[in-house]
Amino acid sequence: MAKKKKYVYSFNEGKKEMKELLGGKGANLAEMTTMGIPVPPGFTITTEACDEFYKLGKKYPEAMLKQVEEKLKELEEKMDMKLGDPTNPLLVSVRSGAAVSMPGMMDTVLNLGLNDISVQGLINKTKNERFAWDAYRRFIQMFGDVVMNVEHAKFEEALSEAKATKGVEYDTDLDAADLKKLVETYKQIVKKETDQDFPQEPKKQLRMAIDAVFGSWNNPRAISYRKIHDIKGLLGTAVNVQIMVFGNMGKTSGTGVAFTRDPATGENKFYGEFLMNAQGEDVVAGIRTPKPIIELEKIMPDCYKQLVEIYKKLETHYKEMQDLEFTIQEGKLFLLQTRTGKRTAAAAVRIAVEMVDEKLITKEEALLRIDPNQLDQLLHPQLDSVAKQEAELLAKGLPASPGAAVGEAVFTADKARDLTEEGHDVILVRTETSPEDIEGMNAAKGILTARGGMTSHAAVVARGMGKCCVAGCGDITVNEKAGQFSVGDTIIKEGDFITLDGSTGELFKDKIPVVDPELSGNFGTLMKWADEARKLGVRTNADTPKDAKVAIKFGAEGIGLCRTEHMFFEGERIKAVREMILAKDLEGRKKTLSKLLPFQKQDFVGLFKVMKDKPVTIRLLDPPLHEFLPKEEKDIQELAKEIGVTIEKLKAKISELHEFNPMLGHRGCRLGITYPEITEMQARAIFEAAVETGAVPEVMIPLVGHVKEFINQKQVVVKVAKEIMKDKPYKVGTMIEVPRGALTADEIAKEAEFFSFGTNDLTQMGCGFSRDDAGKFLKEYVELGIYEKDPFQVLDQEGVGQLVQIAVKKGKKARKNLKLGICGEHGGEPSSVEFCHRVGLTYVSCSPYRVPIARLAAAQAVLKASKK
Ligand code: PEP
Ligand code: MG
Repeated sequence: MAKKKKYVYSFNEGKKEMKELLGGKGANLAEMTTMGIPVPPGFTITTEACDEFYKLGKKYPEAMLKQVEEKLKELEEKMDMKLGDPTNPLLVSVRSGAAVSMPGMMDTVLNLGLNDISVQGLINKTKNERFAWDAYRRFIQMFGDVVMNVEHAKFEEALSEAKATKGVEYDTDLDAADLKKLVETYKQIVKKETDQDFPQEPKKQLRMAIDAVFGSWNNPRAISYRKIHDIKGLLGTAVNVQIMVFGNMGKTSGTGVAFTRDPATGENKFYGEFLMNAQGEDVVAGIRTPKPIIELEKIMPDCYKQLVEIYKKLETHYKEMQDLEFTIQEGKLFLLQTRTGKRTAAAAVRIAVEMVDEKLITKEEALLRIDPNQLDQLLHPQLDSVAKQEAELLAKGLPASPGAAVGEAVFTADKARDLTEEGHDVILVRTETSPEDIEGMNAAKGILTARGGMTSHAAVVARGMGKCCVAGCGDITVNEKAGQFSVGDTIIKEGDFITLDGSTGELFKDKIPVVDPELSGNFGTLMKWADEARKLGVRTNADTPKDAKVAIKFGAEGIGLCRTEHMFFEGERIKAVREMILAKDLEGRKKTLSKLLPFQKQDFVGLFKVMKDKPVTIRLLDPPLHEFLPKEEKDIQELAKEIGVTIEKLKAKISELHEFNPMLGHRGCRLGITYPEITEMQARAIFEAAVETGAVPEVMIPLVGHVKEFINQKQVVVKVAKEIMKDKPYKVGTMIEVPRGALTADEIAKEAEFFSFGTNDLTQMGCGFSRDDAGKFLKEYVELGIYEKDPFQVLDQEGVGQLVQIAVKKGKKARKNLKLGICGEHGGEPSSVEFCHRVGLTYVSCSPYRVPIARLAAAQAVLKASKK
């Protein structure tokens, strides 16, 4: 007979490596238990049980409940307490916890096991009547809300009413009798709203709570969170059932959250917040503003000392910055959670570099720890410091997540999403955020809240998203309904611009300009290590000296793609381009092209000067010509007048150039083949600029599918080179972006000195998805899992990747020292960069801001390959 499946693990049966099965929270509770850290005992129901629960149509797998009963019995025996007992009742918390942390997205129930009888037991045991009735009241409220779907506000209204009747302001002003009465009211609310009595049987409570936690795996906000954070392939959530410890048992009790290093800056100092006489969720919910952890030393020195010892032990054990939750019950410290702490990109870099200095981890581990995409946060602009000094400071809150954000104030998550979709920059302003706001937070440029600490929902989520956030800005009063907030006499209405500095917590009126960031210090060190480790070169796609300068600052080693057409759009040039298109004959075209030549030459001189001796690949004209002609009637009339042709003639030309599928039409080398004079002018501009600056240019022919296309264009280029370059070095190569080009790469490589994979077009033609139209259905494709990721963002390695691999293999066979690059969007996407390393490319090329991402991803590719 097959061995019975184990669905439930006691904390002393698991370990940190069992995250997939026990969830992150469960696995770490088990690890801490084994390490001898004080953890309230309990057990974990596995993620496999959750998976089967769904597969069985929301029914428990057969053996699960029995195993839960067994573990519960063990727990009761160990504690010498019983669930629902009239004298010594056991109370438990029931918490979710998936393999990947999803803070606040799923359900939690505290104080489970209380009923009309066991509440008396709790009174007897604690000799604290008020505490017991408050615990029962909180339990009905939480259970009613998350398990029985009673609107949270109903309970809040009853609570407010109780306070109003008594004429008091705070919950703490209600005494035992008031709370006892409130329990009755709460029970009536449950009955009225659900047509059911509040369950008195503790085992039934437990089953219902487990149902709710499993159910919360697929609630809309959890689904939305997984989508935003690209969390896929998990079985479900585990359920942790754990003895309750109380932080709200009086003056010697408390609760808090802490990080072993500062999650915003990465500084190596104990960092956190706590509240005395409060229950777990109070700190995270941001309802009361907590105190900095250092103050605990004064209030409870022994507990503080023990907590410091524990945090150091945990960090050394995990070799990683930890995020802890703790509770002190009547002077006794308990750890309720430890996990890898979320941090800003700046903190991630600093922690990784400093941990190497501290000999806690190796350079390789440090490099592998940083998510390359996260670096993006460091590369983006900050507020201009001069302009900032002159700006009107409205208020100051907590610096919850760094960076700068400028946008229109909006007050609901839906509005944030809608306006962002319409192209506005918005800042979401809330009294406090809740998990329902997740989509709006993701859409907004920044987040501002009036309440909550550094570990409030808004702060934690914003840091995870790398989004600027100012939290706990107590001077502002937000009126979400009226769509405005006020600071003293100033009123900011929806649509008014505000600016946030997430690194200082400042809130300003109006827009403040932003400037580029500093890239030295720890960031520089990490990048140096990355450069030492990587094999791939990293170039940039840049068309202007300005972009090229930015890219060099970010570490670009050359230009992998200069799209020359972008140079044709400015001022006088566009006029000359249009004249060229409209010219009657070859003679006319040559005449207008000669007007363009000096402009093009100057562009290249500028670029070569910035790049000095770094390689520069210049691609010849690529887009279909109609892109250069006007579309609006008004512009057509203006142009006709300007160049002296009739409107009819101009319109006739526009319709002559019209194509049904322009991206598969008269573009790329096809233009150069039919109008060799364009290629000739561009080659002349490139080579004259090269002679002037001493550059070694790489001329790249686009959209080659047949070797004869390449030969045709190469001949034009070489002829000009002979005349201008004489014996000076230069290269002629091609884009590989047409599937036929990839399949016949051996033929092409005999002629071309380098390849650069244009994976944008290669994806378009390889998958048969129009680049301009696929947006309409690709999102759904990804949601349905047809493609795991959008293939225009993340290289489709199995399909399009094969075309690249074939071309690499055939190309290298025909020309041993063939240089191979990639210049499609994928050149700056980490998983695609890893692929490029694996298949043996020479370099990747990406937009300037992605250069550091590519450098790190290229280093990780080497380290990951050597691990295998
Ligand atoms: C490509 O096709 O991948 C490419 C880089 O060229 P473009 O995007 O300009 O077509
Ligand atoms: Mg292309």
